[in-house]
Amino acid sequence: MSKKWVYLFTEGNASMRDLLGGKGAGVAEMTRTGVPVPPGFTITTEACNEYYARGRQFPEGLWEQTLEALKVIEAQVGKKFGDPTNPLLVSVRSGARESMPGMMDTVLNLGLNKETLEGLARLTDNRRFAADAYRRFIQLFGKIVLGVDGEKFEHVMNEAKGKDRQDTDLTADELMQIAETFKTIIKEDTGIDFPEDPYEQLRMAITAVFNSWMGRRAVDYRRVYKIPDTLGTGVNVQMMVFGNMGNDSATGVAFTRNPATGEDELYGEYLVNAQGEDVVAGIRTPKPLSKLREEMPEVYQQFSEIAKMLERHYKDVQDVEFTIERGKLWMLQTRNGKRTGMAAVKIAVDMVNEGVIDKRTALRRVQPEMLNQFLFPIVNPGAAEHATRLAHGLAAGPGAAQGRIVLDPDEAAARSEQGERVILVRTETAPEDFHGMVASQAILTARGGLTSHAAVVARQLGKCCVCGCGDLEIDYKAGTVHVHGTDTILKEGDWITVDGHSGWVYAGQVETREAEVIQVIRGQMKPEDSKLYGYFSTFLSWADEVRRLGVRANADTPTDARIARLFGAEGIGLCRTEHMFFEGDRIDAVREMIVAETVEDRRKALAKIEPLQQGDFEGIFEVMDGLPVTIRTLDPPLHEFLPHGDREIEELAHKMGINPAQLKAKVESLREANPMLGFRGCRLGIEYPEITEMQARAIFRAAANCQARGIHVHPEIMIPLVGDVSELRMQGDIVRRVADEVMAETGQKIDYLLGTMIEVPRAALTADKIATVAEFFSFGTNDLTQMTFGMSRDDAGRFLPAYVESKLLKDDPFEVLDQEGVGQLVRMAVERGRSTRPDLKTGICGEHGGEPESVKFCHRVGLNYVSCSPYRVVIARLAAAQAVLEEQKD
Ligand code: PEP
Ligand code: MG
Repeated sequence: MSKKWVYLFTEGNASMRDLLGGKGAGVAEMTRTGVPVPPGFTITTEACNEYYARGRQFPEGLWEQTLEALKVIEAQVGKKFGDPTNPLLVSVRSGARESMPGMMDTVLNLGLNKETLEGLARLTDNRRFAADAYRRFIQLFGKIVLGVDGEKFEHVMNEAKGKDRQDTDLTADELMQIAETFKTIIKEDTGIDFPEDPYEQLRMAITAVFNSWMGRRAVDYRRVYKIPDTLGTGVNVQMMVFGNMGNDSATGVAFTRNPATGEDELYGEYLVNAQGEDVVAGIRTPKPLSKLREEMPEVYQQFSEIAKMLERHYKDVQDVEFTIERGKLWMLQTRNGKRTGMAAVKIAVDMVNEGVIDKRTALRRVQPEMLNQFLFPIVNPGAAEHATRLAHGLAAGPGAAQGRIVLDPDEAAARSEQGERVILVRTETAPEDFHGMVASQAILTARGGLTSHAAVVARQLGKCCVCGCGDLEIDYKAGTVHVHGTDTILKEGDWITVDGHSGWVYAGQVETREAEVIQVIRGQMKPEDSKLYGYFSTFLSWADEVRRLGVRANADTPTDARIARLFGAEGIGLCRTEHMFFEGDRIDAVREMIVAETVEDRRKALAKIEPLQQGDFEGIFEVMDGLPVTIRTLDPPLHEFLPHGDREIEELAHKMGINPAQLKAKVESLREANPMLGFRGCRLGIEYPEITEMQARAIFRAAANCQARGIHVHPEIMIPLVGDVSELRMQGDIVRRVADEVMAETGQKIDYLLGTMIEVPRAALTADKIATVAEFFSFGTNDLTQMTFGMSRDDAGRFLPAYVESKLLKDDPFEVLDQEGVGQLVRMAVERGRSTRPDLKTGICGEHGGEPESVKFCHRVGLNYVSCSPYRVVIARLAAAQAVLEEQKD
């Protein structure tokens, strides 16, 4: 006996995906649950593999089993394959284990020939319908099975229709004539007579589906999605049903819940007297499903019951396809429905409340990044479809924004003050642009990667940003932006729309929507007035019940800290003290300090900075009452902080009361060939200990003041860019000395920790030694990635996208932590650090701290917390919960 190659739909079920393919297993499962599915059978994926193993020959017994299965179907439906009086027609479709949309072939209306065509016409009492089915069949068969160029058939159709008529205007006679012309084309092209024998048609169609598994499209698709060639495709042979048999017939698609909002309502559309492809092709405007209730109340009732039953059966929202043939409902397909982030959360919460799924399943169902959709305005998808796309860059900062192009940060601030919506467009940004960035709706840069200044600041601010948009050539003098490779030249003042989710830049004002959750967080809306907020916070509270990893935020100001806390941050994991000087003309004090020639001059500049810092620290401690706050000593990459250009140097010289030429010479002398590897991080405090001293004093005085007011402070002082324990020891000694001084001076005993960032590979390698001084490690994976790959954070944007595009790297390592390389350093540093100090606290504060896969890695490595920008805190909370669930795999 030969192997079983063919399974009737009644013999399969959902668990047989490997053998029957996704589609075959799906229709079998529907059949099994009693849903009306047109009967049919599936040829297994094993048969496909055997076909190839035998040099493209049918496996032994396959054809016989196919004929037997066909007989069963005939008996079931009371029609006969090839019978001129009562013909059975079938569809022949591919269906691999993984869905490969559009990659393989399908033939419809198979079984038609001159004789069965007459039978179909008589039976349906509709000659035109039969002629059209015949024409479609020959066209599809010619193209797919016999490999005739489809254009040739289209050409004949177009000739027949002329200018003013549509497909539906062709008469039965005309369609018959076209069918004959199609046959002639086939004969001329292939030398083969169109097969009149339905069995021959079936054999050829099955062969064609097998062959399409190794077709170019399918092979390419599998390479990209890493699907093995060895899986093979199933072949589904199924009775045809027709939604185009008159006004009691229809075809449609539906979701069991609204896929955009998650509302529990049947949501879909249908077309009367039409075939499936007509709904998708948008030739006629379909009607909403609610109309079906009026037009065919009984069918609607049956359909809605089946839809609900399928949803309960699969315990998830279903996306179904159906056909009504002369008043009889047939279900053709069901699969889990794709949905928006908002819908995903609402559906997950509702289904838990309905007792359909448990909380853990709910948490698994939502991809962390989807939560973003709750927070940021989005480009209305309908509007985007009709908008003009200008250029594409890296989606760096969330949300979407419309605004007028402004190239100068001062101009941006001025215009925004007057109530204008502007978008700052720069080749790249620097700290002195900060006020312009704050004032803008979005930031768009031509250069720079995901950790470029523009991207980091934008995410910190929760501001929309597209960076590294290489097609933009910005001419500051002319005030224009040229879109490379096109004639488009945009001018300052022109409207554009930037989509920080997709990285697209559109011309003009494309409609956007404001997020409700943000309004609640900012206190502009009561939580109880926002259903969305209710779902959002309930869902996240479940994530908190499960996760073990702490989630903190990177925040530099009391305002950011407040937002972070409202998003659920359990502390500050990184306060970049140099960022505290972005506001107003504070940056001048930092610059004065950097360019100071003498210790006295530096102390003078530091004296200006100290009260500002102390004030900010007090503000942050107050907001974070009871929670830890990690403050990093100064780390200003010089090229970001030095004044640029003659005008800025002159202005600063004027403020400092010194000669511009002298200042210019100093700035020149400080210029570095590799600023990212230059005079930054702890190197600054080592050469100028008075800087660390001032900062430590500001921190501890702020802490003492707050503590005296009853606020619970937990400062954690962090030294950046340490490569050798001696650097940390030297800086640590200063911190501890100042701490003692302030405690003596104020009489307040402050509990604090002293730690370091691990962002230089040498620090990771010598972590055991570093842990003799450090009480905590925080992985600065932005720098650690930069230094492990030897790729500059500032310049990688130029070549990294090509790496990702050509799959040399799976992801941009500045966005998704490189677990294999950088991750190894992290894992090793944790182990070595804890071998010295078992209670060593560890966290991450690079941009990866808010990226789901990286967060899961941090959980697995045993970090205590992740820290990310305030707007990514919720993403990290969910990812951390999913990390636990993935561990439990049940
Ligand atoms: C880092 O390097 O990962 C980090 C957080 O520090 P910064 O981005 O300020 O260099
Ligand atoms: Mg760093």
